[in-house]
Amino acid sequence: MTPALSRRLFFGELMPRSRSEPFLLTGYDDNSTTGVATVTTFDRAERIRRAVKGLAVAWGAALVSIFIPVAHFLLVPGFALAGVFVFAKRTRARDVTESIHGTCPHCGHEQDFDSSSHWHLPMHLTCANCSRLLTASAKSTC
Ligand SMILES: [Zn+2]
Repeated sequence: MTPALSRRLFFGELMPRSRSEPFLLTGYDDNSTTGVATVTTFDRAERIRRAVKGLAVAWGAALVSIFIPVAHFLLVPGFALAGVFVFAKRTRARDVTESIHGTCPHCGHEQDFDSSSHWHLPMHLTCANCSRLLTASAKSTC
């Protein structure tokens, strides 16, 4: 392996790549609609960079919390543990959802769903209008 290739692999010459993932949105009955999620794929170096950034923010909050009387007994260990949790979660998050857009099959409300997790199917979503639980699953190609 050449030094240039290993440097590109380590520092992530590949910028995060975004793509659109169509999915099928179903509820409790036979009705279904389609939706589209924007998913960003991070390579190993970018995942580690994001994880270290999350760890630094949480531990920075823990350091600031030292100066808050009484509350620091809970805040400092809480932020310290949260930093470790965020680090572990981000190092494993290869595909992260940037946005999830779709139409509720029950009430027909077109909306952007909460997209604060890694991308996986099936995924459970909640309609902001009728509060029903929806399931996003892989769109069949038939
Ligand atoms: Zn709805």
